[in-house]
Amino acid sequence: MSCDFFSLATSGVSALSPYVPGKPEDELKRELGLAQITKLASNENPLGPSKKALNAIAHASSALCRYPDGSGFVLRSALAKRLDVSANQITLGNGSNDVLELIVRAFCDERSEVLFSQYAFAVYPLVTQAVGATSVVAPAVQWGHDLEAMSALISDKTKVVFIANPNNPTGTYVNTDTVVRFLDSVPANVLVVLDEAYCEYIDLADFPDGVALLAKYPNLIVTRTFSKAWGLAGLRVGYSVSHPDVANILNRVRQPFNVNALALAAATIVLEDDDYLEASVKTNNKGMRQIVDGFESLGLEYIPSVGNFICVKVGDAAGVYQKLLRSGVIVRPVANYGMPEHLRVSIGLKEENSRFLDALKAIL
Ligand SMILES: *Cc1c(COP(=O)(O)O)cnc(C)c1O
Repeated sequence: MSCDFFSLATSGVSALSPYVPGKPEDELKRELGLAQITKLASNENPLGPSKKALNAIAHASSALCRYPDGSGFVLRSALAKRLDVSANQITLGNGSNDVLELIVRAFCDERSEVLFSQYAFAVYPLVTQAVGATSVVAPAVQWGHDLEAMSALISDKTKVVFIANPNNPTGTYVNTDTVVRFLDSVPANVLVVLDEAYCEYIDLADFPDGVALLAKYPNLIVTRTFSKAWGLAGLRVGYSVSHPDVANILNRVRQPFNVNALALAAATIVLEDDDYLEASVKTNNKGMRQIVDGFESLGLEYIPSVGNFICVKVGDAAGVYQKLLRSGVIVRPVANYGMPEHLRVSIGLKEENSRFLDALKAIL
């Protein structure tokens, strides 16, 4: 008889519901035998990767028999220069998800509380539960983070606070004044993680620059990624910027080669590809306008978003999701976030957005 392995796992882990990724394009192709699939489910960059990044990968691949540089020296130096911080403040991750997990693993245990908002990014409760810590969830206001409510929930046990800015899946953001007021209210021994996965897309005067706040708030950790505006989701590379001591601690739990050689090479080069970043932002702004106009002409309610995705209220979201799949369009249901009437759609290229809007119109 085999053992009940679930009872062997730690209680946090055996009770976990795994992260549900967007449905892969190839899977839907196989299921439906459709030639053309429109995937707008994972907030990926619709432009395809930067040509410069692809060249860097081709060049780096001749050294694939070697381990990567475990310290990521070249990429950390390039980031330090671009962000005007020192390289010892930067921790690289296998995607920024890796860094989010490192933070919780390094600082939290069964006695700790981790605080975040209702509707916040699904990875926060996952990494919290995996170490047996307790998630404390602050109610949202108008789908967004209520930093005053969050501040009121900080206790002696709170070790880490996650703020997704903007938040995925809601696309809402907290402005500079609100973030500064919050940081002023937080005890110095509570770490505040500002997850800025989409910040490169945003050009709003009141949107905070987390990195600029680091000098004043040593308990702040800013996380960013190459997966979204930089177009390298498949390579898995992200980073945090923090106080050097925090980076030193994260480095102790980090796997020595957590970022692979191709990712290091491509990320370093893509940082110099401002044309690519500019095209990403432009494509997103245009696509967002197209999709919002489409929702308005269909009379659909949506949650205004500053990211590269947007949530729309369609009623029976599970049913509409299935029908969209059958017409070859993959979006993301968000019932797991407690939003059973919404679907999240990532902003695509013009033709992709049109195919989505046409399919949605036909279904509704
Ligand atoms: C996409 C996303 C990330 C980044 O994930 P990677 O692991 O860097 O690909 C982080 N936080 C939020 C809120 C996101 O939506």
